[in-house]
Amino acid sequence: MPGTSLAIRNTTLVTQDAERRVVEGDLYMEDERIVSVGGKAPEADRELDGTGQVVLPGLVNLHTHVPMGLLRGYGDDMLLEPWLQERIWPAEAKLTPESMRAGADLGHLEMILNGVTSYLDMYFMESGPIADSCRAAGLRGWCGEGMVDVGQTPDGEANRKLKEIEDSIKATAGDPLITHCPSPHGTYTCNRETYEASARIATEYGVPMHTHCSETRTEVYDVLENQGARPVEVLKQTGALSANAVLAHCGWVTKGEVQDIARAGAAVAHCPVSNLKLATGGVCPVPELHDAGALVGLGSDGAASNNTTDLFESMKFAALVQKQHRWDATVLPAQRVLDMATRDGADALKRPDLGRIEEGATADLCMVDFRRPQLVPRHDAVSDLVYAVSGRDVSATVVHGRVLMAEGRVETLDVDAVVDAARAAAAGLTA
Ligand SMILES: [Zn+2]
Repeated sequence: MPGTSLAIRNTTLVTQDAERRVVEGDLYMEDERIVSVGGKAPEADRELDGTGQVVLPGLVNLHTHVPMGLLRGYGDDMLLEPWLQERIWPAEAKLTPESMRAGADLGHLEMILNGVTSYLDMYFMESGPIADSCRAAGLRGWCGEGMVDVGQTPDGEANRKLKEIEDSIKATAGDPLITHCPSPHGTYTCNRETYEASARIATEYGVPMHTHCSETRTEVYDVLENQGARPVEVLKQTGALSANAVLAHCGWVTKGEVQDIARAGAAVAHCPVSNLKLATGGVCPVPELHDAGALVGLGSDGAASNNTTDLFESMKFAALVQKQHRWDATVLPAQRVLDMATRDGADALKRPDLGRIEEGATADLCMVDFRRPQLVPRHDAVSDLVYAVSGRDVSATVVHGRVLMAEGRVETLDVDAVVDAARAAAAGLTA
């Protein structure tokens, strides 16, 4: 759609720019670019009223499994191992392309409603139903094809998938919304050859290498026993600990590993709600990672272990868990947490044009309705965004200059149809 312009009038802009300015006035965009920030915008093809609202960069969900909303609430309050073995894996084994599409539509609908504009995924059938659903929703997805090949020979399933991933990356080169990437599940579930090949693809095509890493103590000690090295060390040995790597969790990493992660330029996707719910015990050392210069973004993880994909909630948990854990209310202040959910997540995906509102940046935004009683008064918008706002307060979502939701109405998906299809698909998986 060349030549379309969008203006949001009379609003408060939490820019997340280099100076972290909060600006009053209008926001003006042409096509996918932000043209002016503050002041008075020219007349635009589409105008949104921002009175009483706060506009901020769209949130970046740096670790999720999009279709897992289908398994929300299915086996809560269980230990991790029986939860996976008795509930999640048997249900996932029944997934078809149709049910995967229904789950992906549900996940993407939730993102739009919650102001998430970009996400890094790890699941299966990414180049089919998940990417198709992402395109239809109008969201920006990094579609990480999951690989699990423990106990198989390196020329098996993962090898076939690696070829497919490479083909998908080539087929979508230049696509503004979809980026395919390799996503080996973890060092305890994948062969070293799979990490070596994933690292090569990530470097060659400049895409993320997305993996779980040091989520639980059991994982760390199992890998140490079986491979003689801890998970971060295995990544290092296979060449997978690079500037393209995005490591989900890192709840059980040592001070030395924090330095290794930072030195490699790798990013961490901190998933506080999932970690707390699954009782993984270790707390991601976010302050130490920050001190070492590592990028830390925020992830919801799958909706089955959260049980939402509300990143506003994850922001609050990220701040609170560090404060409680350290007996220090000054640790990880609101501004630092908002950075994690916006510009740091974007930087982890090598997209410094996202996650901030500034001239020339790409227009991925969300708008929060601060007229709601639970958000009155507004002493400090940044603090409120982290501690008081819920995803349910989001009124508009914009991706690549296109309005996906305005005044709470989703424009790219049929909400009732998505909900009905998801309900039917979920019943099929758990029957
Ligand atoms: Zn995960």
